[in-house]
Amino acid sequence: EQVHEHGALAGLELFHAGAYAGNNYSRVPPIGRASIPAGQRNEPMQAQAMDKADIRAFRQWHRDAAIRGMEAGYDIVYVYACHYYLLAQFLDPENDRSDEYGGSLENRLRLIQEVLLDTKEAVGHKCGVAIRFSTGAGGDSERDTEEAQACIEILKDIPDLWDVTLEDYSFEMGTSRFVKEAGLESTISYVKKVTDKPVVSVGRFTTPDTMVRMVKEGVLDLIGCARPSIADPFLPNKINEGREDEIRECIGCNICYTGDQTFNPIRCTQNPTMGEEWRRGWHPERIKAKRSESSVLVVGAGPAGLEAAMALGKRGYSVALAEATRELGGRVLQESALPGLAEWIRVIDYRVAQLEKLSNVEIFRESVLDAEQILEFGADHVVLATGSSWRRSGVGHWHTVPMEGLEEAQIFTPDDLMQGRLPKDSALIFDDEHYYMGGVLAEQLRKHEIDVTLVTPESKASFYTTNTEEHPRIQARLIELGVHLELNTGLDYLEDGSAFLACAYTGRTRAVDAPSVVLVTSREPEDGLYHELQGRLPITRVGDCLAPSTIAAAVYSGHLFAEEFEEPAQAGAPFKRERIGPCH
Ligand code: ADP
Ligand code: SF4
Repeated sequence: EQVHEHGALAGLELFHAGAYAGNNYSRVPPIGRASIPAGQRNEPMQAQAMDKADIRAFRQWHRDAAIRGMEAGYDIVYVYACHYYLLAQFLDPENDRSDEYGGSLENRLRLIQEVLLDTKEAVGHKCGVAIRFSTGAGGDSERDTEEAQACIEILKDIPDLWDVTLEDYSFEMGTSRFVKEAGLESTISYVKKVTDKPVVSVGRFTTPDTMVRMVKEGVLDLIGCARPSIADPFLPNKINEGREDEIRECIGCNICYTGDQTFNPIRCTQNPTMGEEWRRGWHPERIKAKRSESSVLVVGAGPAGLEAAMALGKRGYSVALAEATRELGGRVLQESALPGLAEWIRVIDYRVAQLEKLSNVEIFRESVLDAEQILEFGADHVVLATGSSWRRSGVGHWHTVPMEGLEEAQIFTPDDLMQGRLPKDSALIFDDEHYYMGGVLAEQLRKHEIDVTLVTPESKASFYTTNTEEHPRIQARLIELGVHLELNTGLDYLEDGSAFLACAYTGRTRAVDAPSVVLVTSREPEDGLYHELQGRLPITRVGDCLAPSTIAAAVYSGHLFAEEFEEPAQAGAPFKRERIGPCH
């Protein structure tokens, strides 16, 4: 009802994962077109092959679910027929069932067609019935679109809406490091020539011009925005009201997806309020008015400082933002110059553009403040957002105390490389941090024709990127670039120009030549000013200077301070629990 109140339609994406679901919670054996391996994470289980009775039961469940959706007030009900799930498992060319549901294309498509017709019959009088369908493997895959096109030809008039996508999920929702805006265009553009029904798709659309081009060139009728709406839920309104310059554009980092992969609430680099609307009562566009005439000095204009200054400014406080360098942006400015990360600059662009509109925020560039200057400034409250720097000691997960032999090789940190100080000829990168930095620096060094060995105690390069759906692309790229990968391996110590590498399991060491070593291990908070000033004036640390983490965490930290500044402390829990049951 609330969706309808705003003139929007509600869509329900029904799906059955088939063999893709392990059913670990219910312990019901998974079902699939055949007794194929089941579960998502190499689980030791197989699906139960569906017989005709199972197929009939599945069709009935889908029909019942569609009716429940209609009765709940949904306007559009989906048949999800792609992305490895049950219906796609039947359509798979490897489906060699000997009955009428396997073998030929007509047979493999049968279940999809039946479910579509069932759904139309069950709810079609009241709801639009959409199909989500892959137009091909897509992206950089060699697999052609011929079979997908043949399917669309057969089904073309049955659904009311074609929601088209690609089979390769890491391309469909690829990060900006690998896939640019409208990345699906070349693989989906034929669909509108095959069907007269409306076509929608996604493509990390944040630019109104690209959206308009999609419609004008006959690629799409409707623009799908998932991540762009996470980053800015008010994106359509801003376009509608001619406020394009206020769009908080998605940067394509897929931090949002890490929540899904790690079973945590969603978060977003660009939109710190995402996932906190209920728990903390935050709104993506509105923030409480100031409580007093207090002035705030924010030191450091990285993502944390920029967000804190912007959000405090929007509350109406008088804010001074001091930054040591000429350019604003801190780590984002440096990191967005690394290979593939250019779109991350939007974290700065959005905030600087907003700050420029706030007459109560004054920005002081090239202003390295020391403790005395901060005291002299006389602000009622100081926010330190002075960031962090990469450690030169090797301390991280593998070494909890400085590594031995640091004087025995030329040591580089990511900060050195980002400031243009590069090793000669060859480098050993020790990635004990496991997010993008180690892999992206390897790529950067290969661009300068420097031989690179990447050593990591994890089993995959840039291991954490398994949560952003990037890992396969990162590892493939490193292999293609000729980076030598030493996985499951730690860097124990350095001696006489050699690095002693240790097997992560047995601890056995061996020596490799390593005159230059890049340590991507952990960061040191730049919190000296805080310790100098603590107790001398009201002061708070935010972002990496409090605890080095992701850019998303820095933005969030700056926002949290601004939201809570001078607000009465909430009694009890800092945020509302997801469920408020009778026991509360
Ligand atoms: P975060 O991710 O927490 O925002 P960053 O490292 O991105 O941290 O940004 C910290 C910013 O603070 C950098 O732009 C740096 O130049 C600035 N900075 C650090 N120390 C001072 C200081 N004493 N005075 C002014 N700016 C500072
Ligand atoms: Fe976009 Fe990153 Fe936000 Fe996801 S987390 S919506 S990819 S900015």
